[in-house]
Amino acid sequence: MRPLVGLSSDELASLAKELGQPAYRGKQIGRWLYHAYAATFDEMSDLPAGLRAALVAGFTIGTGRCVSASLATDGTEKLAVRFGEDAVVECVRLPYEDRVSVCLSCQEGCAMRCAFCATGISGFRRNLTRGEILQQFLLLQARAPERRISHVVFMGMGEPMHNLDEVLGAARILVGEVGLSARSITVSTVGVVPGILQLAEAGLPINLAVSLHAPDDGVRAGLIPAARKWPMSEVLDACRQYRAKTGRDLTYEYLLIAGVNDDPDQAQRLADTLRGAPGSVNLIPYNPVPGAPGFHRPSGQSVQRFRAVLEAAGRHVTQRQERGGTVDAACGQLRLRALSEPAGLGGAR
Ligand code: SF4
Repeated sequence: MRPLVGLSSDELASLAKELGQPAYRGKQIGRWLYHAYAATFDEMSDLPAGLRAALVAGFTIGTGRCVSASLATDGTEKLAVRFGEDAVVECVRLPYEDRVSVCLSCQEGCAMRCAFCATGISGFRRNLTRGEILQQFLLLQARAPERRISHVVFMGMGEPMHNLDEVLGAARILVGEVGLSARSITVSTVGVVPGILQLAEAGLPINLAVSLHAPDDGVRAGLIPAARKWPMSEVLDACRQYRAKTGRDLTYEYLLIAGVNDDPDQAQRLADTLRGAPGSVNLIPYNPVPGAPGFHRPSGQSVQRFRAVLEAAGRHVTQRQERGGTVDAACGQLRLRALSEPAGLGGAR
């Protein structure tokens, strides 16, 4: 069964023609998929019965189904989504006063092996298709249709630069079919230099977030072992090229871990390293995850000290808003629970 989520209007028009229908039927299908979040072909009430029957016989809307969900009192919702029999990933919706953001996964597992991350610890399984990436968006939107999702961040499970074609395919559908602005989409990487350069040439004005997490290559290698091949100087050079080419926002993510990278001297070294590099720093106080012993959350005082040093050096600094309460499990934890409890919620779409 061929999934339809992930196809553009043009591709859906070609499909309609293949099925002996006029091209405009493709647009109608696209509206049901990307604006009405249809879960079945029966819901597509303006399609002729023959076309609906042909779709039921040969196609599926998508293979993803929500198998576990966790909703916090502030509205933050995290889902574990199963694709077919072989992949479970996580995605999150974060409603704010002025926007609704979602965080999507692009791989099941991750090869980057970041020492502090539950996903990295469990290793890489497979890349997701653009349709599987988009279905996370649609599942999250369908659960709260009263507020449209306005921002998308590719910061869930996986390294987007290792699956960039599919990530870009999903981003193009979000812009071209769903109607999001490219400027409200962010791709987050741990600093895969060839990917940053490729993204700069993609012709989509999307934002870039680069996880540094360290003031120098020595500390960074201990936290992100797979990023050793791209020294920070090369990463920052790629960031400069990205900004010059796209003019888009650039953020350096910095996960603050007590006793590892939160010393004021390290803040000064980070400020020195970033001198002349465009972009702001986003500080994220670490939340401990099972399987990553030895990493602890810094005190509020130490976060403020770190921030003050960077600001004194003239760097614009933001701090990630704490969201989610009980749902604020680290990346990968809900997936691990879903894998051990396969019954879950079952077909939410
Ligand atoms: S933090 Fe991101 S890049 Fe690192 S292992 Fe986890 S998912 Fe992969």
